[in-house]
Amino acid sequence: MSGMLIVGAGLAGLTVAETLRAEGYAGPVTLLGDEPHAPYQRPPLSKGFLQGETAEAQLMMRTEEAMTKKNIELKVGAGVTAIDRAARQVTLADGSTLAYDGLALCTGARLRPLPLAGAELEGVCGLRSLDDSKAIKAALETAQNVVIIGGGFIGLEVAAVARRQGKRVTVLEAAERLMARVVPPHVSRFYLDLHTSQGVEVVLAAAVAELTGSDGRIAAVRTGDGREFPADLVLVGIGVIANAELAQAAGLDVAGAIVVDACSRTSDPAIVAAGDCTVRRMEDGSLRRLESVQNAMEQAKSAAVSLLGRERPFTATPWFWSDQYDVKLQMAGLTAGYDTVVTRGAAAVDATTQKFSWYYFKAGRLLAIDSLNQSPDHLTGRKLLDKGISPTPEQAADTGFDLASLLA
Ligand SMILES: Cc1cc2nc3c(=O)[nH]c(=O)nc-3n(C[C@H](O)[C@H](O)[C@H](O)COP(=O)(O)OP(=O)(O)OC[C@H]3O[C@@H](n4cnc5c(N)ncnc54)[C@H](O)[C@@H]3O)c2cc1C
Repeated sequence: MSGMLIVGAGLAGLTVAETLRAEGYAGPVTLLGDEPHAPYQRPPLSKGFLQGETAEAQLMMRTEEAMTKKNIELKVGAGVTAIDRAARQVTLADGSTLAYDGLALCTGARLRPLPLAGAELEGVCGLRSLDDSKAIKAALETAQNVVIIGGGFIGLEVAAVARRQGKRVTVLEAAERLMARVVPPHVSRFYLDLHTSQGVEVVLAAAVAELTGSDGRIAAVRTGDGREFPADLVLVGIGVIANAELAQAAGLDVAGAIVVDACSRTSDPAIVAAGDCTVRRMEDGSLRRLESVQNAMEQAKSAAVSLLGRERPFTATPWFWSDQYDVKLQMAGLTAGYDTVVTRGAAAVDATTQKFSWYYFKAGRLLAIDSLNQSPDHLTGRKLLDKGISPTPEQAADTGFDLASLLA
């Protein structure tokens, strides 16, 4: 018996391995990761870890003993370079090969590079890995002027940390609004006001043209309109590219990312894929790509069950969170296509002490909820959405109405 091989020792890979065991699989389980670290959590890398509130040891998802106890063999520094589907084996960077009965691709994503002159200067960073976060943390000790290229979640979280450390922070966003790909306009406005109130300079519709340096170190970022922003640390946060090349070279169905179904199956019955390296084919044929902890975990659970020849589709409502300053945003459901939005709870004068939620509806049915420092709304909302139960917009807006009562 060759057993199950998992490529990528991140959240999705670890979850596939543990789910195989939880489902009673007794054969060999091998987790291959190309990083030098055992599986660790990425969300704190732009939040608590960067801020100095979370220690490196707390990022680690499992101890060595826990892995041994579950009889999961973890190989770090073990990059997979090719898959031979006919022979059911993979080749590692050192030239060795490993055979599999079932293969899970959990290769995640890598940073999208900034295609501009000066992007290679010292002091220009991206944030994906523990080592990236450590480098930024060290650079923040001496940096005074921090420029963030890209006003998405990660860029804005780093902006908040840097600002809290008293740095002069500028966010340059190419779009007309912040986080435009994932949140509606009023949420972008909320975050623009939040960052501005904290002293961050946010430049929208910014066309970054060039990064200039002296002695190989970053000195400034120039935009197309001739403005120059002094910088001793630049964070490039312009999104990621799915690590799908292995799958593509092996002839699997790839559309920017590895195409999977609701059960995380690829176009090869012996291969599943989960997490940031995937895009999901929905029932109507459309493709949905999510990059989140929940997506990685849920897809991984489905993937492990599929490897065992059974079906457990991922049906839960998507959710996500982001921490910036003292504001926790929790999102449940997807807002695309909403026609009505109502607010539940009062907006406070101080942006960092807000406590309310937006409820999104389409044709009278609840689609999604964005909560600000209002976890109970988020948790109830997730249950409502999972069960397909919808309050009316009037009930959602009325804080006197107990939304949880609809679940009874
Ligand atoms: C800074 C940061 C903050 C985030 N904050 C949040 C948040 O607040 N909320 C949220 O829901 N999500 C957040 N995310 C996203 C979340 O962390 C990811 O969606 C999740 O980590 C995806 O897990 P994964 O296992 O699919 O991929 P990854 O965590 O990327 O793991 C994939 C692993 O596979 C390895 N690998 C790739 N190719 C190979 C190969 N050929 N051979 C061997 N190994 C390989 C990679 O090096 C990597 O270690 C954040 C991400 C980052 C970077």
